[in-house]
Amino acid sequence: MEQVDVVVVGAGVVGLAVARSLALQGREVLVLEREAAIGTGTSSRNSEVIHAGIYYPKGSLKARLCVLGRQMLYAYCAERGVAHRRCGKLIVATSASQQAALPDLVRKAAANGVHDLQILTREQALEMEPALQCLGAVHSPSTGIVDSHGLMLSLQGDLEKAGGMVVLRTGVERLCVTASGLGLRCADGTELLARTVINAAGLGAVQLAQRIDGLAPAAVPPAFWAKGSYFSLEGRSPFQRLIYPAPEPDRHLAGLGVHLTIDLGGQAKFGPDVQWTQSPDDLLVDPRRGDAFYSAVRAYWPALPDGALHPAYAGMRPKISGPDEPAADFHIQGPAAHGVAGLVNLFGIESPGLTSCLAIGEKVAEVVAGSGVR
Ligand SMILES: Cc1cc2nc3c(=O)[nH]c(=O)nc-3n(C[C@H](O)[C@H](O)[C@H](O)COP(=O)(O)OP(=O)(O)OC[C@H]3O[C@@H](n4cnc5c(N)ncnc54)[C@H](O)[C@@H]3O)c2cc1C
Repeated sequence: MEQVDVVVVGAGVVGLAVARSLALQGREVLVLEREAAIGTGTSSRNSEVIHAGIYYPKGSLKARLCVLGRQMLYAYCAERGVAHRRCGKLIVATSASQQAALPDLVRKAAANGVHDLQILTREQALEMEPALQCLGAVHSPSTGIVDSHGLMLSLQGDLEKAGGMVVLRTGVERLCVTASGLGLRCADGTELLARTVINAAGLGAVQLAQRIDGLAPAAVPPAFWAKGSYFSLEGRSPFQRLIYPAPEPDRHLAGLGVHLTIDLGGQAKFGPDVQWTQSPDDLLVDPRRGDAFYSAVRAYWPALPDGALHPAYAGMRPKISGPDEPAADFHIQGPAAHGVAGLVNLFGIESPGLTSCLAIGEKVAEVVAGSGVR
């Protein structure tokens, strides 16, 4: 059986960032990806937003890794020429209760280390974005957008330069904990023995963990799927900045509300909504969901013309908390939590996973180094 130092399962943006971090520390890293290309999973079905780190509970991994990851990502993109734009976003209040909650949002963000938010009056908001309808808004200047594919190619380039490798069309079927390391069996029959395995399989992470012989079932969280559909806007975007509805106070939202994002080519899209589903592969956009989009968007952009929204694509949130529960934090589970030397599972890496990828990479490298996994 061939022996390798580190195997990362999954070549999404998180797997690639983790692999890069470990390779830069001098580890010999192999990334195994079951599809024929990198980044065909959730990493290519998202909003491509660089989040500021506003909404997440204080002290959570989502809050800490988003704020740190955002700073790392802007620096990385500037240094490597990865396309991105610090376009900013407005969080708009269209009801009195939303408006009353804006100062809380600013306080929450400050507790996470996001100190650049500014509350705007209706007039100030309309001066920035004349097409808006709102009672007030919060401006987040450090929110931006990034070319996620350019980012992944750059991470892969760094990994390969540091001696690592991505192997495509190689799904990992089973793992087995042995005295000499972690045994892996791939779909094509290949068998490997690794000292360290990082389960960065995204939507498949929970299922893969269930197929690890020697990992206690109690260590594996339940999996839930929350689909998010997008509708693209015909014609030019009426906004320069990203536009998000203010969160309704006292509601546990599985997403951030139907918002407007702009890609680097200037194409505007609305979404993602939230639809709990039974299968991670349920990725078709139901055109009938468009009706709810018109009413949600017209709350802040009444001039949205009839017939201007077209079904675009959907992404799937890899949830580990259910519809009626508060959103779970990122779960970076190392040997201290599950007792298996050499294994790190990444569960529930939903948004802001893209923003946080470089910080997650560093965090996993710390877990690996600090747990005697070497
Ligand atoms: C609708 C939506 C919108 C989002 N918007 C944003 C946003 O604007 N900003 C932001 O910061 N984050 C956003 N996110 C979150 C972000 O997209 C994810 O956190 C991130 O892409 C996760 O990357 P990943 O590498 O963990 O997973 P993935 O990209 O899913 O990669 C996992 C990879 O593992 C492979 N794989 C699975 N099982 C196996 C196996 N057994 N063997 C080998 N390979 C396997 C898959 O093929 C896949 O390539 C959004 C997510 C969703 C769903």
